[in-house]
Amino acid sequence: AVPLVVAISTALSAKNGLLIRNRTAFENSRKISAIVFDKTGTLTEGNFGVNRIESLDDSSVDQLLALAGAVEQSSEHPIARGIVNEAKKRDLKFPSASDFSSTKGKGVSAKVDGSQYQIVSPGYLKEEGIDPPEGANTDKAETVVFILKEGKLIGFIALSDQIRGESKDAISTLKDKGIKVLMATGDNEQTAKAVADELKLDGYYSHVLPHEKSELIEKLQGEGEFVAMTGDGVNDAPALAKADIGIAVGSGTDVAAETADIILTESSPSDIANLILFGRATYKKMV
Ligand code: ADP
Ligand code: MG
Repeated sequence: AVPLVVAISTALSAKNGLLIRNRTAFENSRKISAIVFDKTGTLTEGNFGVNRIESLDDSSVDQLLALAGAVEQSSEHPIARGIVNEAKKRDLKFPSASDFSSTKGKGVSAKVDGSQYQIVSPGYLKEEGIDPPEGANTDKAETVVFILKEGKLIGFIALSDQIRGESKDAISTLKDKGIKVLMATGDNEQTAKAVADELKLDGYYSHVLPHEKSELIEKLQGEGEFVAMTGDGVNDAPALAKADIGIAVGSGTDVAAETADIILTESSPSDIANLILFGRATYKKMV
């Protein structure tokens, strides 16, 4: 049986940029009863466009965007790429930033001109007891990040992403096979719900922090589910490790890839669906 698996994984590898790091996991894919997708960059394109920028102090919108670009230049998050791209589109000069750091699932921070700036999620803002400004409320599926200077709110940027073309078919294929399809995202409720509704997911979780993604996997396992989980970011690494089958997707980060059982480099939800169905078919032929 082993040579067959090797042959198949080699064939898939050549086609899809698939790397099976744990062959047992691949063989176990027939047992998958639930799959938890991360949203950004997996079910969605991960290409954020900037919709709105609002400055809440006396700096101009372009000054705020240049500052945000300076901080985000060191981040590999899709939101960061969206902000940096918008600043570049406007030909803005970035001030120099130092002491960059990121907090998984919450945001980033760096020093610019001697002040500490942070760009953070709505969840972080809430934790800090800061009320979001009126203008940040939206009825659209937008992702809003907040800019803080020395802990004080000075502006926000609203961005949006698109659902990948192939997500819908991939999800209905998995559901047809009796697999429960769920989504866990660090993004806000409104955006999560819009994606879940559009894709007819069996369930979704928003405002999820990295450690909560792995707790969710554990909870599902406790309910008797055999769980596959996909993720593309560092923030997904703990959950990828906890899942019965961890699938790292996209060019991703090294950390996510290291903890995954399977890595898909040029991946899409349909590759994931095919991989799972293929795993099932392969096993049936082998027994
Ligand atoms: P997802 O589950 O969609 O991949 P993440 O856990 O990566 O989301 O991020 C959760 C939230 O943390 C984002 O929606 C955003 O609000 C915030 N965040 C993460 N990284 C950054 C960043 N580089 N810049 C600004 N905000 C960020
Ligand atoms: Mg992610």
